[in-house]
Amino acid sequence: LNFKNTFSPLSSEELVAREKAKMDDKRFQHCIGVSETSRKLAELNNYDPDKAALAGFIHDYAKQIPNEKFIEVIKKQGFDQDLLNYNRAIWHGIVGTYFIETELKITDPEILTAIRRHTTADTEMTTLDKIVFVADFIEPHRDFPGVEEARKVAFANLDQGVGYELAHTLDFLVKNRQKIYPKTLAAYNVWSIKK
Ligand code: GDP
Ligand code: FE
Ligand code: FE
Ligand code: FE
Repeated sequence: LNFKNTFSPLSSEELVAREKAKMDDKRFQHCIGVSETSRKLAELNNYDPDKAALAGFIHDYAKQIPNEKFIEVIKKQGFDQDLLNYNRAIWHGIVGTYFIETELKITDPEILTAIRRHTTADTEMTTLDKIVFVADFIEPHRDFPGVEEARKVAFANLDQGVGYELAHTLDFLVKNRQKIYPKTLAAYNVWSIKK
């Protein structure tokens, strides 16, 4: 794990320590994987590799925060109250940025937007949004039917990687009769449709 941190007044060592204390080891290893894959995707797509590596590392900072804490923050910190109709799968990114700002002292808007969009994606995606979204799906610890194809597509073309992932996620959510967050569906309609 290595990134030059110019985005938080905390040292990289302190960021790593805070992240480690916030999650179990399996999740921490996933975050390291996403960080390293984000760096690779950044190099392939002319983006700042250190910024991508940092964003990838912290993307799931809030993954294991309890529901009650998320609900309190949604109610008291000016979030869209419609979020209360969804669950922690959606909250840990969108609401997770609150904890990243207050606890990791990261305020860079590009990084925060990439964290916000890392689960659902969106109709408009910056290069960093795409990098973190895709790296989360294909990092080396991920193992599911289709992951090899997802890696091939994503390393060849980042936009097509986003489209492949959204189609896979929609398919999974429908098969399991899960509620689709409107942004996930809107993103699918932009990124996954055959031209
Ligand atoms: P992780 O945090 O590394 O496990 O990965 P993500 O943040 O990308 O996704 C977390 C979970 O959210 C996954 O199980 C996704 O399938 C799920 N998810 C993504 N989009 C939606 C959605 O629109 N609705 C629901 N209910 N779940 C979603
Ligand atoms: Fe996540
Ligand atoms: Fe994701
Ligand atoms: Fe993740």
